[in-house]
Amino acid sequence: MTASFSLSPEAAEPRLQVARRTLERLRSVPALAPRYASHVNIHTLDRLATVPPLAKEDLNTALAHLEPAAEQAATWLFQSGGSTGAPQVGYAPTGFYMAGVHAHWQPLDRTDVFVNVWGAGRMWGAHFLAAALADLAGCRIIALGSVAPQEYGDWLAFLAARRVTAIGGTPSVLRLWFAHARAAGLRLPALRKVLWLGEAWQPQLAEDLAVVAPDARRWGMFGSTETWVVATNTPDCPADTFHPLPDQLVHADDDGLLDFTTLNPEMLNPVLRYRTGDAGELTACPCGRPGSAMRVLGRRDSVVQVRGLGLDVDELIARAERAPGVARAQVVLTERRGRATAVEVLLLTGGQGAAPDAERLRTELFAATFTLSTAFQHDPESFRVRPVEELVSNGRTGKTAGLVLREGA
Ligand SMILES: [Zn+2]
Repeated sequence: MTASFSLSPEAAEPRLQVARRTLERLRSVPALAPRYASHVNIHTLDRLATVPPLAKEDLNTALAHLEPAAEQAATWLFQSGGSTGAPQVGYAPTGFYMAGVHAHWQPLDRTDVFVNVWGAGRMWGAHFLAAALADLAGCRIIALGSVAPQEYGDWLAFLAARRVTAIGGTPSVLRLWFAHARAAGLRLPALRKVLWLGEAWQPQLAEDLAVVAPDARRWGMFGSTETWVVATNTPDCPADTFHPLPDQLVHADDDGLLDFTTLNPEMLNPVLRYRTGDAGELTACPCGRPGSAMRVLGRRDSVVQVRGLGLDVDELIARAERAPGVARAQVVLTERRGRATAVEVLLLTGGQGAAPDAERLRTELFAATFTLSTAFQHDPESFRVRPVEELVSNGRTGKTAGLVLREGA
């Protein structure tokens, strides 16, 4: 019964008081109380497995009611994407729980020169949690954040001159760095460590790294703004396989979805069987480290990554289809080397009635979709809405999917 949890009953059950306290917090939220009414006294993993999973919307409902605050230090608000006009938020205390991560995972040491290229503004969390990890490692930190495309060349020359040994960022952003370096013939010979978080690892990144920084190896973290860092891996692990931290109880459901329950009493977000939308399984890692590892098999919900932010395709389509004159809508995401270059909403007009006002709808969707207005803040023209006579369908299957992915300029 309990093999679907990352920890054994002997290891997890004495620590379930945190989960019971989280349950009480969730029961105090009026909108959520009914669903938890019959769930009390979760003392065993089998009982925990009967608690209803928590979706992102539920967690945000709970946070809006609970407004948690850290016992010590400041409470930070970070964005967790969101499809509405305002960002949805997750909370964390200063330190971002990284001491617990560092106790089990030490990719950096005092000799490292670490470049942090996760973006540092707009309530993004990864930059700060990576900085907290580097702080614990006692290494040198270059807090670069995000840079404009025309700046890569100069910064790469600076980083080479500083003999940087480690870099950390979202895989799609790291790809921009290494693709640019490769194209420009630049090398980072001292680079040995690439820390990543936020998206799946990209094999093309390994190809560019082999040329630009042949001694560099990947060190991955898996997590979300709701759960914070759940699991980590090393260069010896497959890129899709992570070792859960002991404060994070990972569960693989019968339907193949992963959910997460915090065992950390300091966790501000009420993370109790929280589903990130990732599918996966618990397995043994080929690296040989004992214990249950978590293999991530991709997302199962309608959220796609657009420049590191989650875009809920189904919700965008639903909004477009509410506009007058729209029979059906479809989202076309164009990527170039793994980075979103454009998002287009195609409107199938057809039928009776007036043609839709595409420009007006474009303005509305852009303003109402936080991920779009943030991801395309510097190039809003890359989000388009266009009436068409037919949607894009798959010639092989004949199906017309809500989302079409294209590789292009
Ligand atoms: Zn491993």
